[in-house]
Amino acid sequence: MLLFRLILLFAVAFIAWRLYRMVMAPRMRGPEQPPSLRGEVMVECAFCSVHVPRDQAIVEDSRWFCCEDHRRQHTQGSSGT
Ligand SMILES: [Zn+2]
Repeated sequence: MLLFRLILLFAVAFIAWRLYRMVMAPRMRGPEQPPSLRGEVMVECAFCSVHVPRDQAIVEDSRWFCCEDHRRQHTQGSSGT
């Protein structure tokens, strides 16, 4: 019964190869970058220290502010009389 054992050996090898490919296939892909970290640059408000996207922030004197109100309050507080 050498032929039967040969067929059995091939069948086991085939199943093992299929299982190996199923296990290894998802690991072939590289680590994915979180989508929230792409392209968006966050800046810190000089008044309240909250982080806002740079395209929504207001800049004055190389300082970033989350809103016009905080820009005005910070300017009045630091350079006002
Ligand atoms: Zn602010």
